Amino acid sequence: MQIGYNYPVNIYFDIDGVILANDKQPALHVKEFLSYFIERYPTYWLTTHCKGDANYTVSHIERYLDKETLELVKKIKATNWSMSKTEAIDFSQPFIWFDDQVFEFEKEQLRKNNSLNSWINVDLRENPNHLKDILKLSKDLNKDSAINF
Ligand SMILES: [Mg+2]
Repeated sequence: MQIGYNYPVNIYFDIDGVILANDKQPALHVKEFLSYFIERYPTYWLTTHCKGDANYTVSHIERYLDKETLELVKKIKATNWSMSKTEAIDFSQPFIWFDDQVFEFEKEQLRKNNSLNSWINVDLRENPNHLKDILKLSKDLNKDSAINF
């Protein structure tokens, strides 16, 4: 997984299966997960709950988040796409895309742009603590690269 960077990397967040574990509750550790990335990187929505209007997206998830996290997610920028989420990805920049379900035609676009590794396959069913594990890995990678520099 290439998720340790000390330079700007665009971060794309899916909602269902990543920010929300299901339609009743947020994912475990979502606050730490979101704060870490939002405070460090340019962040974007990449979800069926965002089609160009981030206010709509925030209102969709606000009941699942505490006040502090809610203020943070307001910083996540909107994207727009119609058929494939990859339409909204800026392939000219390094990026990380957190999603639990990527279609084959979207994987094909990632492959075409040599970016399949930029997709982090979040699986909260298999591992309810997945966000915590991703965060730890990301922090470790950043620590390592800081030492290398
Ligand atoms: Mg999803």
